[in-house]
Amino acid sequence: MYTDKLICNEYATIKQVMECINQNAKGVAFIVDDSEKIIGIVTDGDIRRTLLEGYGLKDKIKDHCNRQFIYASSINEAHELFSKFDWKVRIIPVLNDRREIVDYVEAGEPHVSLAQPQLNGNEYRYLMDAFWSTWISSTGKYVTMFEEKFADYCGVKYGMATSNGTTALHLALVALGIGAGDEVVVPDITFAATVNAVFHAGAVPVIVDIEEDSWCIDPDKIRNAITPRTKAIIPVHLYGQPCDMDEICDIARENGLYVIEDCAEAHGAEWNGKRVGSFGDISCFSFFGNKVVTTGEGGMCVTNNEMLAQKIQILRDHGMNRKRKYYHDVVGFNYRMTNMQAAIGVGQLEHIDEILTWRNALEDAYADKLAQIPKVILQKKDLNQRKKIAWLVSILVPAECRDKIIKIFHENGIDTRAFFIPLSEMDIYKKYASDCNVSKRISRCGINLPTTAEITETSVEKIVDIIKEQIESI
Ligand SMILES: *Cc1c(COP(=O)(O)O)cnc(C)c1O
Repeated sequence: MYTDKLICNEYATIKQVMECINQNAKGVAFIVDDSEKIIGIVTDGDIRRTLLEGYGLKDKIKDHCNRQFIYASSINEAHELFSKFDWKVRIIPVLNDRREIVDYVEAGEPHVSLAQPQLNGNEYRYLMDAFWSTWISSTGKYVTMFEEKFADYCGVKYGMATSNGTTALHLALVALGIGAGDEVVVPDITFAATVNAVFHAGAVPVIVDIEEDSWCIDPDKIRNAITPRTKAIIPVHLYGQPCDMDEICDIARENGLYVIEDCAEAHGAEWNGKRVGSFGDISCFSFFGNKVVTTGEGGMCVTNNEMLAQKIQILRDHGMNRKRKYYHDVVGFNYRMTNMQAAIGVGQLEHIDEILTWRNALEDAYADKLAQIPKVILQKKDLNQRKKIAWLVSILVPAECRDKIIKIFHENGIDTRAFFIPLSEMDIYKKYASDCNVSKRISRCGINLPTTAEITETSVEKIVDIIKEQIESI
């Protein structure tokens, strides 16, 4: 056990403990009795003071260790203790209920967060530039620049930056004239913002099942759900996986429906060699902090249709006439993005290729190590015509141990997520859903693993070890 190098028996001499501390290079030793229970902690400073008081190197440590020490009963609790108090304490032992040392946590040891943005390009420089220019509201050069560059990245003509991904979806629906009495088809597994936007527009969602292999909306289920009131489909490229856009666009064309792509989790993913966002009548992105490209909060609608682009611009800006100030053509919203957010976005876009390559390599590293566990199913990477991106690394484990695995991650300071709860399993949405057996089954098995920038190979190994141990114990 790697805690061994910090542990000394209470009958050790001061000299032996000094040697232990010298070897472990942690500046501290945990002192245990013969039954391995911890009785105290000694730091190199404690030893220095003991020697200065006149004790000798041959004296027993037992009489000189600090018996009033801070400890935790889980790794997570230790992290919490560090974050709550500004102590001089550098290390906290984690004890089981028999007071045996099971682990320890050092100050500043990273908590593995789920998704930390990579802001190491020009983000800060552009943000400061926007700040010092005093154009900190929603006018300024970075908004236009971000819109142009992002639309270009997607292979689409027009981009309209918004305050977040949910407002982008809402604007898309309103710009397409979707409202009371209309039905919009959405997948059962998505972040709830997709379906909430349908309600915000006053329309009714029709929630359908997902595909077994891609976990994205099932085109056959869309066909079955169409009624004379259906106006649009919102395919969601779930966890970086593109939907079957050929089928979905065919269904839309045959039935006179609009397509609004929800690309919030799939910046840069491709269907048939074309980036997501380029298929829908309007496509919506989110730039929330955990997304592949972030502006803190933020979103964007992209479209090739000039009229829709203008409509969105007006609706986003209080419905105000673009030539005549304070004359309002429609009842609009204030859904704009600030110049400061857009500045961060421009910086992010400059290195999106590197970000995606890095994420992809991280996903491969997980896949490599997870390959030894037969019961783990990774999100499919090589489905026909699809080029997914790695948003969060998404896997399926046996349902019976999914929650236990997440609990153990939590106790170890590793932030992970269970898959989205199917909309059909939530009281406020379930009456809009048809049979969604696939999504129910998949959701119960799914875990999103961290893709945080700070993650180390050791953390990936630890994550895989935890999964392995739990699966093998069922
Ligand atoms: C994040 C997300 C959104 C909402 O984006 P916000 O910027 O948080 O409003 C919408 N749809 C999906 C699928 C998302 O993951």
